[in-house]
Amino acid sequence: MKSIRLKPGKERSLLRRHPWVFDGAVARGSADPGETVRIDSHEGEFLAWGAYSPASKIRVRAWSFEQAQRIDAAFFRDTLRRAIALRERMGIASNGLRLVHGESDGLPGLVVDRYGDTLVAQFGAAGVERWKDVIADALLDITGCPRLYERSDASARALEGLPEVTGWLRGDGPTAFELQEHGWRLGLDIALGHKTGYYLDQRDSRLALHEYTRRLGFGQVLNCFSYTGGFSVAALAGGAGHVTSIDSSGPALEQARVNLTLNGLDESRATFLDADVNASLRRFVAEGRQFDAIVLDPPKLAPTAAHAERAARAYKDINRLAFKLLPPGGVLFTFSCSGGIGVELFHKIVASAGVDAGVDAAILGRLGGACDHPMTVTFPEGEYLKGLILMRKL
Ligand code: SAH
Repeated sequence: MKSIRLKPGKERSLLRRHPWVFDGAVARGSADPGETVRIDSHEGEFLAWGAYSPASKIRVRAWSFEQAQRIDAAFFRDTLRRAIALRERMGIASNGLRLVHGESDGLPGLVVDRYGDTLVAQFGAAGVERWKDVIADALLDITGCPRLYERSDASARALEGLPEVTGWLRGDGPTAFELQEHGWRLGLDIALGHKTGYYLDQRDSRLALHEYTRRLGFGQVLNCFSYTGGFSVAALAGGAGHVTSIDSSGPALEQARVNLTLNGLDESRATFLDADVNASLRRFVAEGRQFDAIVLDPPKLAPTAAHAERAARAYKDINRLAFKLLPPGGVLFTFSCSGGIGVELFHKIVASAGVDAGVDAAILGRLGGACDHPMTVTFPEGEYLKGLILMRKL
């Protein structure tokens, strides 16, 4: 077994059970991509077993902090079994679920979503790439699903020196799927959609918008970065008068139209704009438009903490524009899915956007990723999705 020796003092984060070792923390030792290594402190004490990533700044990702643990097929089967059993225990009423959420489930780099009896997996690090066959077989065995589609096309693969791979890894079948969420029908495609096909992490936030719409009776709703219109269906099904959905992806908007129809919602209550959100918000401000509720769910603007400053300006800008479009009593649902922007920083950005817009707002609530995308205290980066519900004061 190969071992990695850390520089003096660099054992601290592993002792707190944070699973990452950065390249700068390694004093000596190397291994093949994904190979299991023993991680030792500078003094030679065992800290963890991990997977070596020669190309990545995250040089080692820990599998286990128990010296007696063997990293073998049984380890992966057992860890997967526990992650999947946790979801069963959560009792989520949807046929689309996240079964494995990377580091938060003890499997760094691995994402597995279940759509009906189809699994979709992303292998985002050298460790899980090396164990891919074991993981694929175990997933089919544990879930009883006959097929597994691979969507290893996230940008993180390049940082690991891994090529993009997509296609059926086990079995085959249709890639179109109809998600049932909160009683709505949402069509998606696991091969063509973003991520594994859908933003399952926003499940609770879509329900929150739906419930607010029912309670407050929004007339005009603006859904920015709408993707396939999940929030648009949520608002319309809640009785919103009209929803304007903006996205820069034409195919996503086409699917959004289909999703309205699937739910028996009249297209006359919807406008779809294939456009840039920033430019559209500026135009609406210039035109003096107002919306009773606005959703701002932009893509990841800060993939890592290094991008945080530029991203902060971009978040502030769209939030400032959105505030200007809110009448008194209007409600803003604003999100950030950037791991590099923490909850507190996001709060500050939104607050200062309100100040710049000359709008005073009350925070009605906070939102986050759905519970099948768990967070752990040992891995704060797992809390990537955060949201605020704000009402412009009267
Ligand atoms: N709210 C959605 C998920 C949004 S993901 C849901 O609940 O399903 C972010 C979306 O922003 C993607 O669909 C992407 O196509 C879109 N996007 C990215 N940059 C954009 C821009 N500058 N203007 C408009 N849309 C953009």
